[in-house]
Amino acid sequence: MINTGRRPVPEGVYAARMSGFPTLPDVWLKRLTEAFETAGAPHSSESLLDAALGQALDLLPGASGEVWFAGPDDGLPDLQVSSGAWRRAREERRGAVHRTLQRHAPRSVHPEPGLFDEGLLLFPFRGTGEVHAALVVEVPGAHAVTREQRLALQTLTDHLAAHLSRRSHGNESSRLRHLAQAAVRINEIQGLQATLDVITEEARALIGAHQAVTSLTVSADWAQAVTAVSMSDKYAPWQSYAVPPDGSGIYALVCQGNTPLRLSQAELEAHPRWRAFGPHAQAHPPMRGWLAVPLVGRDGQNIGLIQLSDRFTGDFTAEDQDVLVQLALVAAARVENARLYDVAQEELRRREQVERDLRALNDGLERRVNDRTQQLEVAARQLQDQVNALDGFVAFHEAVGTQTDVLALVQQAAGVIRASLAHVSVAYYERESGLWKARVWSEDILPHVVAQIQAGVPEDAPDFARAVQSGAPVFIDGWEADANSLSSTASYGAVALTPVSTPGGLRGMLAVGTQDARVWTDREQAIVRSVGRSLELALERAEVTSRLQAQNAVLEGFAHLTRDLATQRDPLVIVRRAQEVMLSLLPAGYALYYTPDAGRWRNRVQVGDVGHRDLQAFIDAGPLIGLTPTVDVPWQSRAPYYQDQYARGSDTPPELVTHVSTAASLPVVVRDEVVGVLVMVLFQGRPWTSTDRVVLETVVGSLGLALERAESVALLAQRTEQLESSNAELARSNAELEQFAYVASHDLQAPIRAVTSFASMISRRNGEQLDERGQLYLRHIIDSGEHMKNLVDDLLAFSRLHTQQLAVQPVDSRRVFDTVLHRLSAVPGNEQAQITRSDLPLVLADRQQLDQLLQNLIGNSLKYRRADVLPRVHVSAEADGRMWRFAVKDNGIGIDPRYFDKIFVIFQRLHGRDVYEGTGIGLAVCKKILERHGGRLWVESTPGEGSTFYFTLPQAPA
Ligand code: ADP
Repeated sequence: MINTGRRPVPEGVYAARMSGFPTLPDVWLKRLTEAFETAGAPHSSESLLDAALGQALDLLPGASGEVWFAGPDDGLPDLQVSSGAWRRAREERRGAVHRTLQRHAPRSVHPEPGLFDEGLLLFPFRGTGEVHAALVVEVPGAHAVTREQRLALQTLTDHLAAHLSRRSHGNESSRLRHLAQAAVRINEIQGLQATLDVITEEARALIGAHQAVTSLTVSADWAQAVTAVSMSDKYAPWQSYAVPPDGSGIYALVCQGNTPLRLSQAELEAHPRWRAFGPHAQAHPPMRGWLAVPLVGRDGQNIGLIQLSDRFTGDFTAEDQDVLVQLALVAAARVENARLYDVAQEELRRREQVERDLRALNDGLERRVNDRTQQLEVAARQLQDQVNALDGFVAFHEAVGTQTDVLALVQQAAGVIRASLAHVSVAYYERESGLWKARVWSEDILPHVVAQIQAGVPEDAPDFARAVQSGAPVFIDGWEADANSLSSTASYGAVALTPVSTPGGLRGMLAVGTQDARVWTDREQAIVRSVGRSLELALERAEVTSRLQAQNAVLEGFAHLTRDLATQRDPLVIVRRAQEVMLSLLPAGYALYYTPDAGRWRNRVQVGDVGHRDLQAFIDAGPLIGLTPTVDVPWQSRAPYYQDQYARGSDTPPELVTHVSTAASLPVVVRDEVVGVLVMVLFQGRPWTSTDRVVLETVVGSLGLALERAESVALLAQRTEQLESSNAELARSNAELEQFAYVASHDLQAPIRAVTSFASMISRRNGEQLDERGQLYLRHIIDSGEHMKNLVDDLLAFSRLHTQQLAVQPVDSRRVFDTVLHRLSAVPGNEQAQITRSDLPLVLADRQQLDQLLQNLIGNSLKYRRADVLPRVHVSAEADGRMWRFAVKDNGIGIDPRYFDKIFVIFQRLHGRDVYEGTGIGLAVCKKILERHGGRLWVESTPGEGSTFYFTLPQAPA
């Protein structure tokens, strides 16, 4: 039989116990238990009720309280004990109790402990057993009773119910005492496992069984379950037996349903969920009946169970079960507290650990911060040292961005070095005629030292030479002033010489001298190197910038120049413009342009005054070629010749050029030939910079091109002129010729006709009187006359082509062909000839001339037939762009390709008249006709097979 036990214990009880940790209920519960203990023995109902009421009123100062029991058969309840001054009448209270007991089944679950009725707070008894009763409390302002107080009262009621229940079952005082004592012991233990152990131990002792097991799950998870086992001495050998429950046994029913289970051994073995011990059968102690009650958490969820087996005597009783349920109440509360306590302890340990860690961290941090602060202070001092230097660098780089003046840049660099390094002097040298001469120096340098460095250091001074050779800074510890011909600098301890180069070559030497130290430190060396490099870059940029600026100026100037010169044809004007551009970009001076002329250099263009009357006279007279290097050298070498210092006396008597300092002479090249030399002379001494050179060479290069163009333009103009005049000439003579041809052929017609007709008459009338020779002569006369007549006719037709007005119109070439065919077929000898055509198009042409064209071409095809071959001529046409391309194809004798051009020239024939009669004008006429129509005529042929004459004519608009 399955003992379904009783309904679950109302959650309010647990909630009350757990609502504070560790708060009132625990302490109070202890006191309550003690009060019950001391309520006197034998415990009378009355003394118990008094004790309980006392506790209740302790909780609620100023309240009144009483306990009512339900009457028989649901009759009106009876008052048992009462205390305090009531405001509500007894009957009123009785009614409220009655209603409550009827409405609310004692064990029903309420979310809030206690019920309000007519201003009274009522707690129906909810314990086990049959007693129905209620604790009634009247508090001034009852609704102000705290939830906690209500929970406590509910617990009190529950306990009272349990005690009264025991009493109704007989003498249970010792058990109750045990239960109370067990509760006290359980409540005293700290720590989860220890608490579980005590609970198990107490449960076994309280009920009197040989085995007890308490299991605690975590959120119904058996894998994490905690278990405690207690065995009597009887089972000493099993003391260490502990198979962790996995939640699959019959005990799971207890947990799932939150209900106690009480079974005899027989009932247990008959139970469907009983599965014995499987592989543990031998190891497991015998059961002999089983009692299990759930442990219920404050939220009403199961948290585990207490199991007992093998009662000392007989089977487990219902009363055992009630007692164990009571113990489970206390145990569950305690276990949850213990759990919370463990959690709290764990949290505390964790916090402490965190705090320890933090403290350690803090200590470390503090130490590190101190260390770091010290380091930072050192670094800050070092930084401060460098700030000045950096400021200098910044200033330097800013200046570099805009500054293009070399010496100004050097000045900046010197400033940077002196800002970065204490106690140094700086000087910058440039090479000049074998010496290093100081151009810039720091203001600290003493006057006599300045005088010496300005005067110059020989290029072969050992340390200077070494620096030049290595191309890198040279650091000299222990400066030897005398050895470097700088005796005045003996007070310097160490010197650094930094050669400064740009892509254009070595520009100068940066010298840094220490006033005290005799040795260079790494840091100092680094600064000198860095400034040297920056200076180089700055100079390079300055050079590029000024070169670009100059180039721009020149190009702009020359853009003007070339624009001006675009139409200019006079080379000397062009040269003058170039000279003007050059001079505008240079300091004061003059420009000459020499070309060779009979052993002398002839000055063809001059811009600027040469500054000396005799010099001008000398120039004008023409310096001798071969004795004037300034002009000879570039002429010969075809390369510019720069004289930073003009070699006075080399070209002219020296006294004429004392005012002249610098010269540059550049060959002017036109079409790869030197045509002259441009000489620039400056009064002031000045080395030609790379920028100057670019300027001069660009201008002279462009000058050459301008001259070349001028020449071409002139040549072209000349050619054009010539062509124009010869064209006019040709046109005139052509017109004359045409006129002549026309007149001649026209006028010749009459005499020729006369000659031939008279000759024919003689032949007819007097032919027989003539001997054979005479008759032959006469035939010759007639033939020649006939030929002459043809010639004149053809010539007349040809010359008419020039004079005749063209009547161009759409013409159906088929019809023209048909006319020509008809005409030619009638000529004797052509009867057998096959003359055919394809579908021929509409063309834009003069009908009469098209007729003549076809007549000539088809006529030739018939004439130049092969002796034993039936002549075939076919005319066809194909579209060719906006033209029609016609083909007149025959199977005649053909034409040797060598003569393809010749045959179209007037009077040109390939055969004697004795073989093929003709005048050599036909094709010339055809050609002319097509020219006049904007078409072309050409031939393709294979000798012995035939020829095809092609011509094109414009298509007639559709
Ligand atoms: P002609 O026929 O009066 O001699 P043309 O000007 O018509 O003069 O022709 C020039 C020459 O071209 C001819 O003498 C002939 O040698 C050659 N010729 C022209 N047409 C043909 C042709 N269809 N086949 C072969 N030769 C030709």
